[in-house]
Amino acid sequence: MTHRFIDLPPEALGFAQTSIDRADKYRDNAAFLEDARSYGTSLTLVFIGDMPLIMCGNTPLNVLFTFNNVPFATDIGEPIFLGLENGNPRFAIVLPEQCLPELSVREDVKAVDLRTLAVKSLVTPQHLNLLATAQALLNWHGKHKFCANCGQKTKLKSAGWKRICDACQSEHFPRTDPVVIMMATYSDKCLLGRSKHFPQGMYSCLAGFVEPGESVENAVRREIMEETSIKIGSVAYHHSQPWPFPTSLMIGCLGQALSDEIKIDGLEIEDARWFSKLELAQIMNGTHKEGITAPTKMSIANHLMQAFLDF
Ligand SMILES: [Zn+2]
Repeated sequence: MTHRFIDLPPEALGFAQTSIDRADKYRDNAAFLEDARSYGTSLTLVFIGDMPLIMCGNTPLNVLFTFNNVPFATDIGEPIFLGLENGNPRFAIVLPEQCLPELSVREDVKAVDLRTLAVKSLVTPQHLNLLATAQALLNWHGKHKFCANCGQKTKLKSAGWKRICDACQSEHFPRTDPVVIMMATYSDKCLLGRSKHFPQGMYSCLAGFVEPGESVENAVRREIMEETSIKIGSVAYHHSQPWPFPTSLMIGCLGQALSDEIKIDGLEIEDARWFSKLELAQIMNGTHKEGITAPTKMSIANHLMQAFLDF
């Protein structure tokens, strides 16, 4: 039996590069967290709704504010502690949406959605990961204000890494939803599909949520069978990518197809095709004769496609 050990994530893979020590030992240390806010080296991400604030200027844009420099000084509530970057505390806070009108007249800061920051490489890869961590946590907090066990209000604990219900003592932890994203291969061909939501001409890897009771590899086999009727044998793990829209983890895999006759389900995807390595190379470099394009380099789909070319 052979094992393939996984290297560090490819440099361009969005949200996956990290330099943060999550330092979970401090999450319940109220004295540390209170003191840390007054350190000159403590910095915080600032969100309005689910949009991070950036300081206008040259790229990479700065997304970290000192607590004294948070725009629209207001009650910022309890910051989420993200960890230590080079030993210095990093937090995330959310400003109320009432700040939005004031924001529209500011020239030094503005809110930019995280996808745009990622696709256009507007912030450093490490800060992109920090933003993704914060946004996934904030998305989770926004949808878990009430206890799933008894229906009473929950409250934030452990500097944002837990919610608890005082009524029934339940503890609720931030969730990450596993999604398999995979490319089937058959001889020198690879399988790509498109959903009707994709930009015109773009083909990508198939994807779907892992269901309860399912292994990653069986989810890969099921999703490809459901969408294209292609049977998959062996499955290999490639890399994974945090995907905070709202709280997913994309698990990138390659699957060896045992047949090549495609039958489209017509529901989740509108087309799927086999592409030769030559065609895939043209798709990746934007010269395909039908104008077919690949997803952005920050996406794991792009890296799975590149992995097949590199075989
Ligand atoms: Zn409860």
